[in-house]
Amino acid sequence: MTAKRVRNLMIHSLMAIAILTACAPAATEAPPVATEPPQVATEEPAATEAPATTEEPAEITDTELNVLCTPQEQWCQGMKQEFEAKYGITVNYVRMSSGEALARVQAEKDNPQFDIWWGGPIDSFVAAKGEGLLEPYESPNFANLTDPAKMKDVDNQWVGVYVGTLGFATNSDWLAANSGVEAPTSWDDLLRPEFKGQVMVAHPSSSGTSYTALATILQLRGEEEGWEYLKQYAGQISQFTKSGAAPAKFVGQGEAAVAIVFSHDIVNEIENNKLPLVLTFPEEGTGYEIGGMAILKGAKHPQAARLWFDWALTPEAQALGPVYAAYQAPTVKGVELSHPELLEVNLIDYDFIWAGEHKKEFVDKFTNEIAGAENLKE
Ligand code: PLP
Repeated sequence: MTAKRVRNLMIHSLMAIAILTACAPAATEAPPVATEPPQVATEEPAATEAPATTEEPAEITDTELNVLCTPQEQWCQGMKQEFEAKYGITVNYVRMSSGEALARVQAEKDNPQFDIWWGGPIDSFVAAKGEGLLEPYESPNFANLTDPAKMKDVDNQWVGVYVGTLGFATNSDWLAANSGVEAPTSWDDLLRPEFKGQVMVAHPSSSGTSYTALATILQLRGEEEGWEYLKQYAGQISQFTKSGAAPAKFVGQGEAAVAIVFSHDIVNEIENNKLPLVLTFPEEGTGYEIGGMAILKGAKHPQAARLWFDWALTPEAQALGPVYAAYQAPTVKGVELSHPELLEVNLIDYDFIWAGEHKKEFVDKFTNEIAGAENLKE
């Protein structure tokens, strides 16, 4: 068995363990946290069927597709070009953070301008499903998913297209200038006096990244203690940003000391933009996202939307991530992970359904009682 296969099997085991054990947290009690490292499989994995491929429907009359795109601009642009080259359908996309995307989908309920929503943590898709905004679609390529039972909605209204973990990015120049201070390795470390006014994160009303951090805290600590922690955490923030990935860039440029961002975005800033950042994870457990995809109810180009949906679930399309500086883990079989170490961390049993169903309530509470959403840094 090759090292690569062992590694991939281990990652898939890890994700299966983390997701399978997810449970809704009680109002005041923290749900169990996965503290044991996952078992590393030593056996050759059972042979899996060849991934299903996308069959082009006999007749497609749609000539364009409007995509609501939540990942970073470069990946949105790359996916647009790849899809256009493959299928000859013009793709128009708008990049928005998750909270903005959800608000847009809600506002356009009766006259949707987008056909498909691609990317951003699944919590927003769960919230959209609850409001009847999504169109079910049973893709033949669900067969490609590593874990179809966990990576897609039971009613086929959303599906996962990538997985990513939350991490901390600390400016290494700042650490060098503040001797004795170490990069945070726990959520409590963020509350240390030396980080007062030195932490940057997006606002949970606009950003799925930030909402993942908020929901992670509530699941780790239970609601009562979690909200208390969040008040203190907000007191450490230098400025809330609109986009989830932006704090890594600002911290890399020296505007603050620590950013809370998805780890794949931190890797991008370190490897591609050469920013002086150190990546660490909270040892007691970090949250993670399943990045989602859904066809919008009332989509004006449903054939093209289904074609994108099927294509985005192929190994070929998911292997494009790293080509466009997106280092999330894939959700389908047959794709090599670009950065498996980002998943080899202590993950909480993040409950996506619970987080999605409480999204409006928790964002409103944070905005009204802890920190407003005015003047977010762009
Ligand atoms: N960009 C990347 C690379 C992401 O992984 C995600 C999360 O899915 C987002 C953007 C979401 O952005 P935001 O936190 O601004 O909603």
